[in-house]
Amino acid sequence: MVKRVTVLGSTGSIGQSTLDVLARHPDKFAVHALSAYSRIDVLVAQARTANARVVVVPTDATAQEFRRLWGENTRAPEIRVGANALADTAGDNQSQIVMAAIVGAAGLPAALAAAQAGKRVLLANKEALVAAGSLFMAAVKTNGAELLPIDSEHNAIFQCLPHHGRASAPSEPAPGVRRLILTASGGPFRARRWEDLHTVTPQEACAHPNWSMGRKISVDSATMLNKGLEVIEAHWLFAMPADRISVVIHPQSVVHSMVEYEDGSVIAQLGQPDMRTPIAYGLGFPERINSGVGMLDLAAAGRLDFAAPDLLQFPCLRLSFDALRSGQVACIALNAANEIAVEAFLSNKLSYTRIPSIIERVLEQMSSMHDVPICAIDDVLSLDVEARRHAQQLVSLQSN
Ligand code: NAD
Ligand code: MG
Repeated sequence: MVKRVTVLGSTGSIGQSTLDVLARHPDKFAVHALSAYSRIDVLVAQARTANARVVVVPTDATAQEFRRLWGENTRAPEIRVGANALADTAGDNQSQIVMAAIVGAAGLPAALAAAQAGKRVLLANKEALVAAGSLFMAAVKTNGAELLPIDSEHNAIFQCLPHHGRASAPSEPAPGVRRLILTASGGPFRARRWEDLHTVTPQEACAHPNWSMGRKISVDSATMLNKGLEVIEAHWLFAMPADRISVVIHPQSVVHSMVEYEDGSVIAQLGQPDMRTPIAYGLGFPERINSGVGMLDLAAAGRLDFAAPDLLQFPCLRLSFDALRSGQVACIALNAANEIAVEAFLSNKLSYTRIPSIIERVLEQMSSMHDVPICAIDDVLSLDVEARRHAQQLVSLQSN
């Protein structure tokens, strides 16, 4: 039976890779809906090629742009508008699989709606889990959704853990597992000292040595805040406490992550650094399907290196571990402050090395709120707004 797939954030890096994999399997998958926030021309082309039934855009103006670019020769897909329509589409009964590939906490309501509808959720949007881990995992469990991690590290760990053909939300660490080991490339500035990075430009920060990704996650990879978000993500996905998750620098990005077992075994997943592998795994699970990714040639790779991360060189990694130990309010603050700081850096309003200072200050400012209960998505969203407000103020002070 052909399964219908909704791709949230289809015009982004993960969205495009997802459509590439889907197009290789017309016998297995068809597209229900696509969504984009900008680059409406790309959305039009995607909707045509994938024969989408529905597209979701943010505003009336972008809906008009879609109609204009589509033209009148062929029947246009149904156009839905706004954030509520996005969540409704993620949860509607027209698709069985949802790829959550919007960047940032903005993707949370739609990803949650897909889980609440009991679908197979392919989760790329790590910020959703960082901000709302407990709610999201509870929604997966309560509604019998299937959760397949797409982030390459978590997909690797999922592949290295014992499971029984079913992807759900565990309530405790898998039996026999001692530790999860996340690999990190170290990004473009791995070999440089933190003090020497004041003047790096957005372009330099976005030039990742191994992966081609969206701009926000590229900056996060350079600061290693990305790895911090992934530690928090791993905590929720695999019910693993912070002190049983570690990070190792592995510049070649061939080993995507590892699981250490009680008997001393370490199981790793290896492959080319191409997100189509985890995407194909999530789509096909428990079957393996073609992803279009070339095979790994270890003899050609020659060597694989590993080193401990230097927390002085990567303050964002330390801040993330601190936030995870402090609790969910701190994780929301960490993520929101980072989103604001990275946006300011990308628009040349903040220097690269100020990113962790902004995050640290916001964590301090929000520390009195650590006990605020988080029972519903609105609790998460209002803390997120509060943290963004603090971060925005700090950024304005910096740029004055
Ligand atoms: P991207 O910037 O390339 O694409 C983001 C997509 O989200 C676009 O389609 C954009 O239109 C949409 N979008 C942006 N803001 C939005 C908003 N406010 N509301 C609705 N839609 C919005 O990002 P990406 O690199 O594809 O990353 C997407 C997610 O996947 C991120 O959470 C990232 O951390 C995660 N991820 C990406 C990679 C990668 O290789 N790119 C790897 C692992 C995890
Ligand atoms: Mg990753």
